[in-house]
Amino acid sequence: MTKQDPRGLHLECQECDATYPISAMFTGCPKDAGALEVVYDPKPLEGTLERWKGRLGTWAFRELLPLPLDIEPVSLIEGGTPLIRLETNGPGRIWIKDETRNPTGAHKDRFHSVSVSMAKHLGFTKISASTTGNHGYSLAAYAAKAKLRCLIFCDVRSPELLRQGIQAFGARAAVLSHRRQHLEWLVRERNWYPSTGMTPMPVSTPFGVEGYKTIAYEIYDQLGQRMPGRVVIPVAVGDILYGPWKGFNELKTLGASGRLPRMHAVQSTGCDPIAQAYKAKADKVPVHPDPKTIAISIGDDTAAPNTLSTIYQSGGTAETVSDNDIIAAMRTLARVGIIAEPAGASGVAAVLAMQKRGEIGNDEDAVCVVTGGGLKWPDHLAMAIEPHVLKDEDPITVRAWIDAFDREIAA
Ligand SMILES: *Cc1c(COP(=O)(O)O)cnc(C)c1O
Ligand SMILES: [Zn+2]
Repeated sequence: MTKQDPRGLHLECQECDATYPISAMFTGCPKDAGALEVVYDPKPLEGTLERWKGRLGTWAFRELLPLPLDIEPVSLIEGGTPLIRLETNGPGRIWIKDETRNPTGAHKDRFHSVSVSMAKHLGFTKISASTTGNHGYSLAAYAAKAKLRCLIFCDVRSPELLRQGIQAFGARAAVLSHRRQHLEWLVRERNWYPSTGMTPMPVSTPFGVEGYKTIAYEIYDQLGQRMPGRVVIPVAVGDILYGPWKGFNELKTLGASGRLPRMHAVQSTGCDPIAQAYKAKADKVPVHPDPKTIAISIGDDTAAPNTLSTIYQSGGTAETVSDNDIIAAMRTLARVGIIAEPAGASGVAAVLAMQKRGEIGNDEDAVCVVTGGGLKWPDHLAMAIEPHVLKDEDPITVRAWIDAFDREIAA
């Protein structure tokens, strides 16, 4: 388990720089509880950037993923999502990184593909996570693929449909308002692998976040081996902001040219602990006393400190958008063929507001990660449509209804 990797792969504490072999460490650095992250020796990776040209998909970049190179990953063929230009009237170029295309409809699949692969590799047979919906639904799918036993702690706000999906994948779901204590007990006392963040607020499992780096690698390539100016991402715990930021930094280490992008975290005005910390120039995210938003997937009451350091280091910001703005963005996306859930669309709401305020440069690429698809969230999808449906068999009524539409089009 502690075998040397030819890539010089190890775990490193973000507080004290202590290093550890790649192993099952879930509660941070033993010295100071600092978050651990995977670090690679760049030397053996020379020439990687050239080889990566045109590559898409999480495991296409496995030289920079923590699984040993000779071990088969647990994959449902995640990542490789399209980068789509969103036509707007404002300055700059707005791009959508459409993560709704992943196997379970959210970017979380990149996380669990790597995290579950590591769990299996490290010899675990039981895996668990805490979730507002998507995270657990995705883990249950990957646990099924890996033949690991799976228990998901679901937030009371998580949709019934996702709980059903979790069960369909063969996992068990516990719906609880207080979940952490039970998850941590399983991890400490019963040898379960946490595919989720443990306290004190770390970089989740150091492994899952590695999967998110591949979003950065793909964006860089899809822009023609160029860094974007800004990356705008809906954030809960913050792994989805920190992961791509780590990825862009690694691209630099591998020899990529251009300035690192500014990283913008997006939250709802009804649950904005990161934005509050950012405004106060704090280095810790407070706990929001009462999260209230339709964007449940970004409705966590607090976030990891990495989220803030990513914003500060990159020269980014924390943005907030209202639930009404989010619904408008869901409509905007639907009209270009993308059904997003509220959290997934919130980044688009933010980037369009930034553009309107003149914050996007004329020659700037702003990439917005649309994190989650809308079909798993039917109650929220219903909020974004004006009902245009006829349910009546009477031929005269039907004809009048279609005739009215036809005339409306002609007018
Ligand atoms: C989980 C989730 C997020 C936030 O990801 P974090 O890594 O927890 O910050 C954003 N959007 C959607 C759709 C999600 O499911
Ligand atoms: Zn340490």
